Amino acid sequence: MKLTQAYIITIGDELLIGQTIDTNSAWIAQKLNAQGIHILRRVAVADEKAAIITALDEALAVADVVLITGGLGPTADDITKPLLCEYFGGKLVINERVLEHVKGIFSRRNRPFLDRNMAQAEVPDVATVLYNRMGTAPGMWFEKDGRVVIAMPGVPFEMEAIMEDEVLPRFKERYVTGAIVHRTTITAGEGESFIAEQIKDLEEALPSHIHLAYLPGPGIVKLRLTGHGNDQELLQKEVEQLQFVFAERIQHIVVALEDKSLEEILGAALLEQKLFAGLAESCTGGLIAHKLTNIHGSSNFFRGSVVCYLPPVKERLVGVPHELIEKHGVVSSEVAAAMATGARNSLGTDIGFGVTGVLSPSEDYPVPTGTVWMAVADKNRVVTKEFRFHYDRIRNKELAAQNGLLIMLRFLQNKL
Ligand code: ATP
Ligand code: MG
Repeated sequence: MKLTQAYIITIGDELLIGQTIDTNSAWIAQKLNAQGIHILRRVAVADEKAAIITALDEALAVADVVLITGGLGPTADDITKPLLCEYFGGKLVINERVLEHVKGIFSRRNRPFLDRNMAQAEVPDVATVLYNRMGTAPGMWFEKDGRVVIAMPGVPFEMEAIMEDEVLPRFKERYVTGAIVHRTTITAGEGESFIAEQIKDLEEALPSHIHLAYLPGPGIVKLRLTGHGNDQELLQKEVEQLQFVFAERIQHIVVALEDKSLEEILGAALLEQKLFAGLAESCTGGLIAHKLTNIHGSSNFFRGSVVCYLPPVKERLVGVPHELIEKHGVVSSEVAAAMATGARNSLGTDIGFGVTGVLSPSEDYPVPTGTVWMAVADKNRVVTKEFRFHYDRIRNKELAAQNGLLIMLRFLQNKL
């Protein structure tokens, strides 16, 4: 079966200079991929006639559908609409439905309707109008020799509304879209080359319609199996079975069999074991609490975090003994352990966690920059672990938070 081939063109000088990050093409690609449409290429081009035409010519030479975003607005830098009109040999005409819609938006917002805004209701007579419930610039659908070109505004939520309301349903009807299944296994504790060695024979034995991808992230490596086929249900079973075979081989490093964030996975594990966690965060400054509280329902497994940045706060609010800090230094296994048990006690939780570290160069600590100690405690045991991060302060902080979530999870899984 030949999959429908899509080509995504994003238009705008701001994309090329990195002032705006092109999230539109990532969003579109995810949606198309989920519908079994293959993404051939994604390009960003300047707000220039020649650049846009070159991209269009290239796209139409290879793809079945071309999706364009940007440059549909009423200002002089927005040239996509007249350009496409000319490209497809049409002329701009007022569309009554769009005009009503645009006027309605202006009157609801109490804004004067300018002549310039009239242009927003103009569409090429050779295009089908795609209704934009979130804004004034309509989307447009062109066809040429059985190929489709779709133009949408650059504003992400307007583009998304047009895709959901008008484009994706039409694609579903029109194109034979293949079945596609992704299954992701999250691992922690080993690098990707080590994992690759462990599963070499399994990977080599994969059938040609199933592929394995290694996706390393902070503290983790995701293994994603992707299958293409015709029958969604059958494919789902096949890929799931393979996932279990892979996961069994490397079970000591598996932390989850689904593609979720570490905070979601930890939250689910705490809920399942009916446990509450409490934290004492020094160098992460509450970042772990922030991540956990992003989850709806976190009050069912998370009691709170003490951001105990300076030593006196660690002593007063978490009960870390002054002598311990004097003797071992504030960035130490002992202090991390005392923070974990102290968090458990002062917050009244089943699981306590502590993190203390030095994230950027400083003369104040006898340990190397990037050293972070963490500890997890329950009523029976305290486990500590040392990390060394080598990036800048912000990235080190993020790494510390991710690894904090991870070691709590591994503690609950008895893998720490
Ligand atoms: P408008 O009617 O608002 O002018 P437009 O179609 O002309 O819409 P642009 O002027 O290209 O769109 O962009 C509008 C806004 O959307 C800008 O803030 C821009 O940074 C943002 N934007 C444009 N393209 C993208 C993209 N590919 N990814 C994310 N944001 C984008
Ligand atoms: Mg614009």
